[in-house]
Amino acid sequence: MTCQEAVDLMGEALEGQLQPALRPGFEGHMAECAPCATYLEHLHVTRNALLHLPLEGGTSPRRQELIEKFKREFGRG
Ligand SMILES: [Zn+2]
Repeated sequence: MTCQEAVDLMGEALEGQLQPALRPGFEGHMAECAPCATYLEHLHVTRNALLHLPLEGGTSPRRQELIEKFKREFGRG
């Protein structure tokens, strides 16, 4: 499996949707390719962070705080 193929499968792997036939190749690549393993870990952390953000009830303090932070850092008025 090439890095490109592995990256293409990461989304499915994170969702637990990876086809069983592809799993050994994917996991084998993760075991021997440090950059891909690091990237997968980063995706995993990012995905978990997004999942724990409240997507409904848009006025929650945490979400509002993030929006304000975003405005301060990227907003110009
Ligand atoms: Zn790789």
